Amino acid sequence: MRNTTQSDQLFARAKELLPGGVNSPVRAFKSVGGDPFFAKRAYGAMIEDVDGNAYIDYVGSWGPMIAGHAHPQVLQAVSETIADGLSFGTPNPLEVTMAEEITRLVPSCEVVRMVNSGTEATLSAIRLARGATGRSKIVKFSGCYHGHGDSFLVKAGSGVLTLGLPNSPGVPAALSELTLTLDYNDFDQAQELFDEYGDDIAAVIIEPVVGNANCILPKPGYHQHLRDLCTKHDALLIFDEVMTGFRVSLGGAQELFGITPDLSTFGKIIGGGMPVGAYGGRRDLMKQIAPAGPIYQAGTLSGNPVAMAAGLATLKLIQRPGFHSELLDKTNYLCDGLEQAAKDANIAFHTTRVPAMFGLYFREGPVESFADALQSDAARYGRFFHVMLDQGVFLAPSAFEAAFMSIEHSKDLLDQTIAAARAAFASLQSA
Ligand SMILES: *Cc1c(COP(=O)(O)O)cnc(C)c1O
Repeated sequence: MRNTTQSDQLFARAKELLPGGVNSPVRAFKSVGGDPFFAKRAYGAMIEDVDGNAYIDYVGSWGPMIAGHAHPQVLQAVSETIADGLSFGTPNPLEVTMAEEITRLVPSCEVVRMVNSGTEATLSAIRLARGATGRSKIVKFSGCYHGHGDSFLVKAGSGVLTLGLPNSPGVPAALSELTLTLDYNDFDQAQELFDEYGDDIAAVIIEPVVGNANCILPKPGYHQHLRDLCTKHDALLIFDEVMTGFRVSLGGAQELFGITPDLSTFGKIIGGGMPVGAYGGRRDLMKQIAPAGPIYQAGTLSGNPVAMAAGLATLKLIQRPGFHSELLDKTNYLCDGLEQAAKDANIAFHTTRVPAMFGLYFREGPVESFADALQSDAARYGRFFHVMLDQGVFLAPSAFEAAFMSIEHSKDLLDQTIAAARAAFASLQSA
């Protein structure tokens, strides 16, 4: 067994002072059982805890660390920047460079606004959508996560055409009623909803690959279907690329699937590990944001130079030719190896993949909807998670989160992961 003395002591202190001992819920290991480890350092594909245990990391700080932890070029960019001060409250040159990079890599974004988190990006994007269309309703998909804004903490009512219900105490029903929820990949349901409410819908917001309900890919033509419905009804299509942006392809999921959204949201990779978000899109929409236009949105630390420096250094690294195809090869290699190991152990298991992002399911495939994803055996995943952790592999501490590949995951580390999984599958068999 791992020594967890220091982590356990820290968690005991943390539980007295922080809700559940953490600053973000999934870190608490509640859905896999047990207690979290406390990180001391991370490098490349590895993360090390305060007790000296090292793990091959497939969480990657939940998305930003696509170039690996503590990359020397990212650290150097940050240290050069901090020498000149941490925050100015006036425009700084790196914000302009960042805007140039994002708009160049993602052509649907003609204008962008930097914010401080993915949550802020999605909140701001729907405010813009509502302000620009003069409509109030938004459409989201069950299983998709867009941060913790009130309008997104909503679940479907009893039928698709009924009003949304709050998913958390503290969300007013009057607000949740404005959010309509669809099943991902259900073509007819989206059609039906637009037939009924099309002219009241400000925007449809979607994770173009769902990474917050394990990993669910869109069916061929699904995003085009949503694009067509939005265009027909003058509603905006918002791709929430906080996770997929710069990951599944250099130009994000919109490049991978060949779809042009009206607005996009980003975070994670563009901060390189620093707190960042961004939203952007069509010039005629974005110019309605203050001070260019009347829709208000602001931020004391937005466009922070240190965050811009870390993000720009990361964006530079991922533009090396072949970067994303290498990530896809690594993802396929690992997922094929895990599926073979499960098959050899007679365990019902399935993987889904896109470049640098994958899902692990304790059920047979295919998985095409949130309902399918929910049928994964979460208790079994929890046991698997802990056997992997004890062997030095850190997977997401939840059966319903995507796993992430970084460029620093070497073949040797992937082979070690597959070997650990063989042992873990065998232990499930005997359990
Ligand atoms: C992580 C995430 C968010 C929220 O970003 P935060 O920086 O945690 O606020 C929003 N949307 C998607 C798709 C995400 O994966």
